[in-house]
Amino acid sequence: KDGEIIWVWERGRAVSDDDELVLEGIILDITDRKNLEARLSELATLDSLTGQPNRREIERVLQDELARARRYGRQLAVLWVDLDYFKRVNDSFGHAIGDQVLRTVSLRLADSIRSVDTLGRYGGEEFIIVLPELSVQEARETAERLRQCVACEPVVTTADQSVALTVSIGVAVYPDHADTAETLCEAADRAMYRAKDAGRNQVAVALRDRDAAAVSERLQLSLKDSQNR
Ligand code: GH3
Ligand code: MG
Ligand code: MG
Repeated sequence: KDGEIIWVWERGRAVSDDDELVLEGIILDITDRKNLEARLSELATLDSLTGQPNRREIERVLQDELARARRYGRQLAVLWVDLDYFKRVNDSFGHAIGDQVLRTVSLRLADSIRSVDTLGRYGGEEFIIVLPELSVQEARETAERLRQCVACEPVVTTADQSVALTVSIGVAVYPDHADTAETLCEAADRAMYRAKDAGRNQVAVALRDRDAAAVSERLQLSLKDSQNR
């Protein structure tokens, strides 16, 4: 009545009374319940499919760990993990098996990291892992171990079926490659795309500014070269 939009639950039926047709039923205002639902889902920290921390939670963990790393002058690694050719799993085996594969792979990854590390589902088939106090070399070795741990054994889905799967992983380390949560994630994501470009089932470490400038210079030179030819 006052222009405010509310949630309602309604049930009704048509009733005919001689030549008049009327609608009889009840409408309940369930706005409070819907608001509570929205608030609860906001407070939820776990992803409902995998049971791992959701995007909001892993972003919070990253912010916390980054603040700690900054305060104590320590390093912090971020791994960006993307399943390779995951669309094919859905296309070949169906979405339900795809979901099961996502659950199993995320568990396998979560079981293979230290208790101080945190894995979260960023969205879709992408995961972030936050690893405090790791150098670039240690982060690369950890990523390599995780890559192998997915590739070495197919995911068993039913008694007579299993799915072979690989992941591509991008690695970025504070303060070597970036110094905010956002730029660290961007650097890890960009590195992950380089791992994809290099053929997938690979680990790629973020480029330092100097390396990135050299790569971009090489690209421009080869572009000029091909334009001159
Ligand atoms: P690549 O990363 O190697 O380039 O190939 P891809 O096939 O994995 O490509 P992309 O990252 O573009 O596609 C991801 C697919 O993941 C798309 C979508 O169908 C699937 N996916 C995302 N979220 C879910 C989910 O919750 N369940 C299932 N079953 N599939 C999902
Ligand atoms: Mg993806
Ligand atoms: Mg993918």
